[in-house]
Amino acid sequence: MSNDWPPSDDPACLEIPPSEMRAMAAGVVERVVQHIASLGHHPALGETSIDDIRAELRAAAPRSAQSLEGVLAPFFDDWVHRSFGTAHPGYLAFIPGGGLFSAALADFISAATNRYTGVQVAAPALVELEATALDWLREWMGFPAEARGWFTTGGSLANFSAIVAAREKLLGEHLRDGVMYASSQVHHCVTKSAQLAGILPDRVRTIGVDESFAMDVEALSVAIDADTAAGLRPFLVVSSAGTTNTGAVDPLVEIGALCRQRSLWHHVDGAYGAFFHMVPELRPLLAGLSDADSVTLDPHKGLFLPYGTGALLVRDGEDLRSAHAATAGYLPPPGDAETYDPSQYGPELSRPFRGLRVWLTVQMYGVERLRAAIAEKRTLTLDIAARLEQIDGLVIDAAPALSLFPFHLHAPGWTPDDDDGATRALVDRVNARGRVMITGCTTAGCYYARICVLSFRTRQEQVDHAVDDIRNAARELLAAVR
Ligand SMILES: *Cc1c(COP(=O)(O)O)cnc(C)c1O
Repeated sequence: MSNDWPPSDDPACLEIPPSEMRAMAAGVVERVVQHIASLGHHPALGETSIDDIRAELRAAAPRSAQSLEGVLAPFFDDWVHRSFGTAHPGYLAFIPGGGLFSAALADFISAATNRYTGVQVAAPALVELEATALDWLREWMGFPAEARGWFTTGGSLANFSAIVAAREKLLGEHLRDGVMYASSQVHHCVTKSAQLAGILPDRVRTIGVDESFAMDVEALSVAIDADTAAGLRPFLVVSSAGTTNTGAVDPLVEIGALCRQRSLWHHVDGAYGAFFHMVPELRPLLAGLSDADSVTLDPHKGLFLPYGTGALLVRDGEDLRSAHAATAGYLPPPGDAETYDPSQYGPELSRPFRGLRVWLTVQMYGVERLRAAIAEKRTLTLDIAARLEQIDGLVIDAAPALSLFPFHLHAPGWTPDDDDGATRALVDRVNARGRVMITGCTTAGCYYARICVLSFRTRQEQVDHAVDDIRNAARELLAAVR
C-alpha cells in the first residue's frame, strides 16, 4: 500500500481512494484464491484448539489504522485453519455445502454497492432480481405462481417463519390449543422455532419413525385424532425432506393427504434435501413436496452457497404476507401483492441482499450445471454405500434416500455399547487420517456414523479416500478385538 492511506491530515475521512481500493481488493483476492487453491493440502478436520492464540484474538481495538496485509496474515495463515474443514473437498460431515465463489463475488458486490433491499421502492430493480431468484426456486419446487417467500439466514428462520404463518392462518387467538406434529428425527430448530412462535413444548407431538427413520403416518393419524378428541386444535405437521441425522425422507404424499383431509398445514423442512427436487430425474424421491403448504430450502446446503442463505416458500403467498405485513409512518407504503416487498414477507427490515448470491450463481453456472452437480452427489453417495456394504463388520443402517446415510461397526458377540464405542473410534480414526471428515449422531440411544455428500468440491477422488480410510479403520478396530 502507498502512503496516502489513511490520510494523516484528515482523520475523519474514511473514504478510500480508488487506487488504494484496487490494491486492497487485489491483495484480498490473492489471499482468497491461494486459500481455495490449497484447501486440499490441509486436513479435512483442522486443529480446533485456540488456547495458544486466545490473547491475540482478544486484543483490544486498535487506536489507529493497521495495515490490511498485516491483519489478514494471521487470519489466512493460522486462524481460518483452526476449524472443521467445511469448505474442504473431503468434508462429508453434518450437511456440507462448500461455498461457491460466485456467492463470494455477489457478497462483495452487494456490500460494496450497499443498496437497501428491505423495501421494494428503495431499489426496485435489485428487489426484482431477488423476486426472480425466489421465483426460480418456486419453479424448481413445483410450487404455483401465487407462492411467495423470502431469503432467510438459513433453514432455522425459514422453519420459524413457516410456523408463524401456519399459526396465524389456523389458530389466530386460539394459540394455546394449537398442536403441531413432527417426527422424532425432525431438526431441533423446528421445536425451537415452535417455542419462539408461542407453541409451547406440551403442544408439540413427537411421532415415531419406521426402520428407515421416516415418520410413521399411522402413528401421526392416531395422535391427531387423540388431540382432536381432547378438544385441542391440531394445525401443523412438519415433515422432513431429508433428516439431518440419517437423511430419511418422510412419506410426503401420505402426510400431505392426511393434512388435507384434516385441514392441517403441511410444512416440509427441505433444508437438507429440497434441492434434489431441482433435478427432474430425482423428483420421484421427493414426491409430494410440490403439494405442501410451505417448504424450507437451504441454498447454503443444496445449492452449494456459503453459510447465510436459506429460503422459505409458501404455497399461498397471501398466508405468508398476512402473517408478516406491517408498515410505519416513516416508511413508503408497501407495494401491492404483485410487487414483491421483502419486508412484508418476513420479520426483517434492513437486510443483506441475499438474493444476489442465488441470482449471480445461477447466471454464472446455468441451471444444467447445477443440476448435474446435485445429481452427481447422489450418485457418489450410492457408490460409497455400495462399497461400504462390502466391508467386513460395516452395517449400513438405512440406504441413502438422497445423499446421506447412517452406518455402524459391528462384530459377532458385541453388545450395542460395544458397537457404539467402536463406531465412535472409527469416526475418530477416519478424521485423524485427515483426508475426509465425517460425523455421527445419536438417536434412540444408538450412535451412528454418517456420511453426507453435498459439497460441490466432493468428487470421485474423495469418495475413494472415504472408502479406503473407513475400510482401514474398520480393519484395525476389528483386528484389535480378535
Ligand atoms: C441444516 C438444517 C436445518 C437448519 O438450517 P440452518 O440453515 O442451519 O439454520 C433445518 N432442518 C434440516 C433438515 C437441516 O438439515
